[in-house]
Amino acid sequence: MNEEILELECPHCHAAQRVSVPTTVHKLDDPDAYRRILDGTLFEYTCPHCGGKMHVTFGVMFHDPEKRILCFYCPDPNQVKEVMNMFEEKPAGYTVRITEDEGRFLEKIRAFEQGYDDKALEMWKLTYLYRIVSHHEDFEADDALYGYRDGAHKIDFYKEGRYIGSVDADPALIPGVKERFLSRDTGVVQDDLFVDIGWAMEHLTNLLHRPDSAS
Ligand SMILES: [Zn+2]
Repeated sequence: MNEEILELECPHCHAAQRVSVPTTVHKLDDPDAYRRILDGTLFEYTCPHCGGKMHVTFGVMFHDPEKRILCFYCPDPNQVKEVMNMFEEKPAGYTVRITEDEGRFLEKIRAFEQGYDDKALEMWKLTYLYRIVSHHEDFEADDALYGYRDGAHKIDFYKEGRYIGSVDADPALIPGVKERFLSRDTGVVQDDLFVDIGWAMEHLTNLLHRPDSAS
């Protein structure tokens, strides 16, 4: 695990402190950091002075050598450009993802852990969003994240970064969504460093506009 030291001030007691954060998390070699990704606490720290919780933002690369996944969280747009340049040619057999959204970074790695394809996951969330919109025309969400809380699977909807509501969702439907929406190539599927709800909408539009190749 590569680390860097951040100089921070606790938002509660204002004590200055040095926090060591991972810049890479290797699934096999960094089991503790990996567990913190899965339980959603990778970016949460406890102030040693007052015990208060702090949220710490830092860029990090996740590597799963078994499933051949590289996933980058880049809070800084300059980092996004650097990573994009690194992956003009992808390593063979690797799935490479970049996201500027912390929640999406955590979501993707959890989805991969559960054996889901993240493209299918995005399409699955979109089916729920369209179902809601078909009953509530004024429901306007521009993002959706999958979460598991209190024993229930949820999709949380956001507009301009603000949480606007949740629905119960069934991940058992994800393989069927994959079969239905991802079994044919629309071209967008190739351009897949950024797989998010925008990607899913673009993919769906392409599917609808190319009925000739429907399977
Ligand atoms: Zn403190």
